[in-house]
Amino acid sequence: MGSLHEGHQKLIAAAKDSSHDLTPRVLVSIFINPLQFEENDDFKEYPRNLAKDCQKAYEAGADAIWAPSLNTIFPKGKEGHFTLKAPKSLQNHLCGAYRKNHFDGVATVVLRLLNLVRPQKIFLGEKDWQQLIILRQLIREVGLNVEIKSIATLRDKDGLPYSSRNLLLTPEERAKAIALPEIMKNASQKFQSGHELDLKKLKSYLENNDLRVEYLETVDMKKLTPVNHITSKLCLLASAVHCGKTRLIDHTFLMKRKPIVAIDGPAGAGKSTVTKKFAEKLGLIYLDTGAMYRAVTWLIQKKSIDPNNEKDMLEALKNLRLNIDLSENGVQQVLLNNINITNQIRSPEITSQVSLISSKGIVREILTAQQQYMGERGGIVAEGRDIGTAVFPDAELKVFLTASPQERARRRAIDLKNQGFSVPSLLDLEEQIKERDYIDSNRKIAPLLQAKDARLLITDGMNIDKVIESLITMFREEIPEEIWPLK
Ligand code: C5P
Repeated sequence: MGSLHEGHQKLIAAAKDSSHDLTPRVLVSIFINPLQFEENDDFKEYPRNLAKDCQKAYEAGADAIWAPSLNTIFPKGKEGHFTLKAPKSLQNHLCGAYRKNHFDGVATVVLRLLNLVRPQKIFLGEKDWQQLIILRQLIREVGLNVEIKSIATLRDKDGLPYSSRNLLLTPEERAKAIALPEIMKNASQKFQSGHELDLKKLKSYLENNDLRVEYLETVDMKKLTPVNHITSKLCLLASAVHCGKTRLIDHTFLMKRKPIVAIDGPAGAGKSTVTKKFAEKLGLIYLDTGAMYRAVTWLIQKKSIDPNNEKDMLEALKNLRLNIDLSENGVQQVLLNNINITNQIRSPEITSQVSLISSKGIVREILTAQQQYMGERGGIVAEGRDIGTAVFPDAELKVFLTASPQERARRRAIDLKNQGFSVPSLLDLEEQIKERDYIDSNRKIAPLLQAKDARLLITDGMNIDKVIESLITMFREEIPEEIWPLK
């Protein structure tokens, strides 16, 4: 939309950062879109300065700037082209409820721009959250092969999010406008520490600062529908106010704990390798729950207990002290009653019995409780078979990671070789994998199953980096950069 500021420059810099393998690289489009203004709206008043914009864009790392004329975008005139209607359900609240046709105009023009440019990635600010959600759906539905990267809102020293419209504020107005980011910050901090939000009070605080409140709402951050009783799920508090003649928007996310990611899938899908790296990139704690079931299997075998003898099993597990920790070199260390069994639990003897032992109620009960305790405050990426369904059903992101049995057997063979174990034939490995899948998927308690709200990721033909990149894209759709940036 032009009138570039530091917020745009941050998007350009992020694009530059990720563009090393792309040619051409960073294209900045500048187009003040008449379709997204209402008739008597501020189209004419909207700040414009193309020369300055070019300078700022190049400074931030743009390789080219594209400032098309109205005629380039709409050669048949504004009325001569197809236009889009953004989904009603995404426009009933927040800005959509007050700016008629605004998001239809945004969607129409963005689709046109994307079709003309055909970029591989598009960088959008999280500041215009409703726009981001609408454009994500548009790109998904139209099937455009473009990846959306969303970038956290950049704020000025006084807390006001950078916006072209800030230029229209007088110094007196600006001093009042900062009440908006102030209430956002306070509300999110208070919410985090367990207080309920009092929207009426927040609204009157804004009004006391001469800000006319257009809306102040809490909504589901993806569906954008009102949330009256905020539970553990992440939600959005957003507002638009008028400060003098200028309309300003701001938002914050409300969340009680750090994010949780659940990654489930069958044996040999490559979960451990990618989950560990993915957790590292996000600065989240990595938990391999399979290692816990393997550790218990090791104990049962060591004590020569019959897994069908519940009484003996219970006795053996009564004082279980299982510690799972990442060591400095990134290998998750498994200590059972102070004995380090990290390597032993990967042996074929353990692998052949682990599914049977994992199907026992007492084992699941003890380990599930320990896993839930470890994830109580969030900040964890847990992988296993029942994480999204039984251990952390309210995880923000759930992924069901799988691959064909042939591909999984191939990967398992490489793992075994690297760990110094003898490697059976691929056909034998495939049979073992299928058998384990069968037991895991058919046990009575917490079977291996794709949770209803889990995303399916089939990794045949994908290398590790590609899988991690897909996971990060999925994570970003659930958790904004504003809440949890990459490390
Ligand atoms: O992931 P890994 O192959 O190490 O897991 C070993 C076994 O542990 C699985 O085949 C499954 O039987 C069991 N398991 C489970 N629930 C989990 C994780 C693993 O039942 N959450």
